[in-house]
Amino acid sequence: MRRIYLDHAATTPVDPRVREAMTPFFGDAFGNASSVHWYGQQARLALERARATIARALGAHPAELTFTSGGTESDNFAIRGVFCAARKRGRTHIVTTAAEHHAVLDCVEALRGEGADVTILPVDSSGRVAPDAVGGAIGERTCLVTVMHANNEVGTISDIAAIADLAHRQGVLLHTDAVQSFGKVTVNVQELGVDLASVSAHKIYGPKGIGALYIRRGTEIENIFWGGGQERGRRPGTENVAFAAGFARAAEIALEGMKEQSSQVQVLRNSLEEKLRLEFPGLLTNGHSVERLPHILNVSFGFPPFVPEGEMLLLNMDLEGIAVSSGSACTSGSVQPSHVLIAMGRDRATAKATIRFSFGRSNTPDDVDTAVTALKMVAARMKAV
Ligand code: PLP
Repeated sequence: MRRIYLDHAATTPVDPRVREAMTPFFGDAFGNASSVHWYGQQARLALERARATIARALGAHPAELTFTSGGTESDNFAIRGVFCAARKRGRTHIVTTAAEHHAVLDCVEALRGEGADVTILPVDSSGRVAPDAVGGAIGERTCLVTVMHANNEVGTISDIAAIADLAHRQGVLLHTDAVQSFGKVTVNVQELGVDLASVSAHKIYGPKGIGALYIRRGTEIENIFWGGGQERGRRPGTENVAFAAGFARAAEIALEGMKEQSSQVQVLRNSLEEKLRLEFPGLLTNGHSVERLPHILNVSFGFPPFVPEGEMLLLNMDLEGIAVSSGSACTSGSVQPSHVLIAMGRDRATAKATIRFSFGRSNTPDDVDTAVTALKMVAARMKAV
């Protein structure tokens, strides 16, 4: 069976050029970047080259970039690190939104248990928080505002520059989770005006298990891990040089081809949306109509009395060889609708009847046609049952 992967927002395959960039570090170039001998120096050189490449891609200085184990750790480091530093000055309030990734929402919830005061702002029907609402939520004890750049489920891009400006006017730091946007659209920390930004390699054809946190020079932040003095004392643990080199190569490739890539996936995404609209009257597209990532299409199948469960659609699509993602999550044995779609005002049934398609470099117009045909078949089969 020919398999079609339409879940690039979940993860991407490692690009062969990335694999090639990593290979030496699994062989002769195995040194520990902290060792002073020749082996160590070779590893250090590669690590710093990788740091410089990713920093350049973000518009940052290399010293402002700390390697982490991925987006989740970057988010946790940013939020917990700033909170722990700020609470010494009595600033314990964190502002975020209801549409954030669990790496952010669960982290702020954990901090709530450690004395943080948390404001979770609502989002509009496109998934965006109003910058003025952020401004209004900031108080004297606020230490951090954390708002994602682009949403991983619906692709909506937020106006981070406006939010950063409002936060800074009140002396508050701004963190953005740019895990989904980095490499897909321009993420320049200067233009966005952010103090901290999380990125991850595996969303851009790099390896899983490495990411980075941009920390603007002068930002007060505490470590979340303790150990050796790696990463300028910020993040202890022997550095993963191979993955850092792979991440840097992936970032280079993504940035070089961003315009072309972006229009290629956008054409496929728009074509899929059009075709689904024709085939499924009542189809709802979730997310901002303009300010959204080019490769994500999130749709709800609202055609009562038959409202299919996204999870069942996903499983049936998989049987047809097509990998997509649903708007639900399996929690404690039952399927729960996506917190993002609920925050955007969708009712539970509609939120559950949702599928996310996300395109990547290997997809073709033929994949779109095959996906539509499969979905028609699957929906008809489910309806009959
Ligand atoms: N933030 C967003 C918006 C994401 O989409 C993801 C991954 O799905 C993460 C954070 C977590 O990143 P990682 O898988 O690198 O830990």
